[in-house]
Amino acid sequence: MDSYKYIIIGGGLAGGKAVDGIRQVDETGEVAVVTVEPHRPYERPPLSKDYLRGEAGLESVYVEDAAHYDAADAEILTGVRATRVVPDKRRVELDDGRELGYEKLLLATGGRAWRLPLPGNDLENVFTLRTIEDSERIREAAGEGTHALIMGGSFIGCEVAASLRQLGTQVTMIFPGSRLLERIAPVALGDLLFAKYRDEGVNVFPGTVSEGLEGDGKVQRAQLDNGKMLEVDLVVMGVGIRLNTELADEAGLTLNERGALIVDEHLRTSDPDIYGAGDIAAWPDPTFGERLRVEHWDVARRQGRQAGRNMAGEEVAYTALPYFFSDLFDLSFEVWGNLNAWEETVVRGSPGKGSFAYYYFDGGRLVGVLSMGRPSSERKPMQELVKARVPYDDIAVDLGDESVDLDRITH
Ligand SMILES: Cc1cc2nc3c(=O)[nH]c(=O)nc-3n(C[C@H](O)[C@H](O)[C@H](O)COP(=O)(O)OP(=O)(O)OC[C@H]3O[C@@H](n4cnc5c(N)ncnc54)[C@H](O)[C@@H]3O)c2cc1C
Repeated sequence: MDSYKYIIIGGGLAGGKAVDGIRQVDETGEVAVVTVEPHRPYERPPLSKDYLRGEAGLESVYVEDAAHYDAADAEILTGVRATRVVPDKRRVELDDGRELGYEKLLLATGGRAWRLPLPGNDLENVFTLRTIEDSERIREAAGEGTHALIMGGSFIGCEVAASLRQLGTQVTMIFPGSRLLERIAPVALGDLLFAKYRDEGVNVFPGTVSEGLEGDGKVQRAQLDNGKMLEVDLVVMGVGIRLNTELADEAGLTLNERGALIVDEHLRTSDPDIYGAGDIAAWPDPTFGERLRVEHWDVARRQGRQAGRNMAGEEVAYTALPYFFSDLFDLSFEVWGNLNAWEETVVRGSPGKGSFAYYYFDGGRLVGVLSMGRPSSERKPMQELVKARVPYDDIAVDLGDESVDLDRITH
């Protein structure tokens, strides 16, 4: 049995960054990354953006070049699945029959795309999007002269719709909600996005779902619940993920009621030698005083690195404010905080002019901010305001008044 001081299961962003975290603290302990995909660690945001559009090459998708892991003396075991973790024996079993010993283990197994259980969901050209290969297959099937149906009005759906439209594809979007990005978009922002998509030539049908897909081997038609039958060449389902926490569950680690891996402030699971990071990890967030789990690039990046550092002996709590970004056509925005629940917003700037920030409040306290086209001098104070969970009554008026400097509100 090969033994390593550190084993990382999962070659996504969290797994990749964990290698660096370990090496920042321990220069010599043996490190192995076990990943079922045929790639060294890579990140997913380009898969719905420039890589999908063919504007960026594969090298830009990888977290680091191959030489980086050689220099770090980390073994990347690609194309192999971890099938079992045996905490008592500190052992990982792989699907090629190998067994690996560890002293510290990181689970960074992320999620897999959910496929709606519709009739015809297994037809050719019915896609989900999670991997490099998914992105390549969608790109090959789309383009001038094709019609894509996108199911889902959240980030993946919105980004894929924009990218495919930019490739000259005719695009129709359907989703059960009443507006694009409904979970985070106030009505006015939803209207702005709707107008943008319409102007770009995307057909957007809120409140609409598909009842089934038809075709002769390959998808050709989609039956909608509004009675319409669409002729389509491809379908992309952007309807969320299922967490890859079966390994953790079978190893007896504590999961929450939604199947997320419970970790403490040091990203350690219920087993002191096993850590968790990225999409699967539910951590106690100090800003919001509750356990959060977030499917975002920045969280995977930071948690992966911090978990690596902690595995190697550092004992530092994970306290970063959740952050993410998205690009939709020429609209780029950033979000800080926790928008799982909010009751009201204050807007600073002008959505019509493309420079605005929505400040979200829940229970009378600031919980997050969504910013598009704001001056870069506002980025830091925005985050500080959210971190401070400032009460609505203290800032609502000033926030809405652009003549009041954001720094002045903070201090
Ligand atoms: C198309 C797309 C676009 C996105 N765009 C954005 C964006 O613009 N902004 C943003 O903030 N976030 C974005 N995200 C979300 C972000 O990419 C995720 O939050 C991030 O990938 C999570 O990283 P992770 O390392 O936790 O998991 P993952 O990236 O899912 O990596 C987990 C890896 O572990 C492997 N694995 C699982 N089980 C095993 C096993 N038993 N054995 C071996 N290997 C295993 C998986 O195959 C996978 O390779 C996007 C996601 C997608 C899919």
